[in-house]
Amino acid sequence: MSIAENIAQVRASIAAAAREAGRDPGEILLVGASKMNDAAACREAVAAGIDALGENRVQEMTAKLAENAYAGAPLHFIGHLQRNKVKQVAGKADLIQSVGSLELLDEIEKTAARLETVQDILLEVNIGQEAAKSGFPPAEVLSAAQAALERSHVRTLGLMAIPPADASREENLRYFDKVRALFIDMNEKLFHNGLQHLSMGMSGDYQDAIRAGATMVRVGTAIFGSRHYT
Ligand SMILES: *Cc1c(COP(=O)(O)O)cnc(C)c1O
Repeated sequence: MSIAENIAQVRASIAAAAREAGRDPGEILLVGASKMNDAAACREAVAAGIDALGENRVQEMTAKLAENAYAGAPLHFIGHLQRNKVKQVAGKADLIQSVGSLELLDEIEKTAARLETVQDILLEVNIGQEAAKSGFPPAEVLSAAQAALERSHVRTLGLMAIPPADASREENLRYFDKVRALFIDMNEKLFHNGLQHLSMGMSGDYQDAIRAGATMVRVGTAIFGSRHYT
């Protein structure tokens, strides 16, 4: 199957899940998680109408940017971002989905201010409260959103979450519901219901995520095939 065929199949599954949930499939953005796939694969995805491409590693993103891999589609940064690499990402990625600490928020604010730009972000919530994962604990999401509102060079568009990898389907659904509840709460209390994006769901669970309210799914394997780690 080609990348274009895979995208068409994922789109059909997205539409089916959206319809089941009584939602408009057009409101769900498909982000291709293109880590470990080369510039040619990214271009293929863009030609096939992917809504955005998401990268995990700064070095890989920088190299592929130099090859014009993302021309024609927005670029998202979706991986763990270290503070000392913010300069390579802020102002280059259209959306940084993985803002999971106040230190990182401050660094992005500082860099965006220097560039005289406003960086769009999602706040990442560590919904499973996993020690090894970044993201705000659920109880701190509201204060993090308040902190983001007080910084004029970042604009919060919503929340991102990755439930624990070992969760059962039932547990996963509960995590998605919890993220949605946090999203609704912060949207109402701090953003006049103007937030647009709830990013959750990957190749194995994007239909469940859509039924749970996701507006953005990040799909790698189902589009690009399995990744070969060396
Ligand atoms: C790799 C990755 C994905 C996509 O994972 P697949 O299971 O291959 O679809 C989504 N989100 C993030 C943050 C990722 O790193």
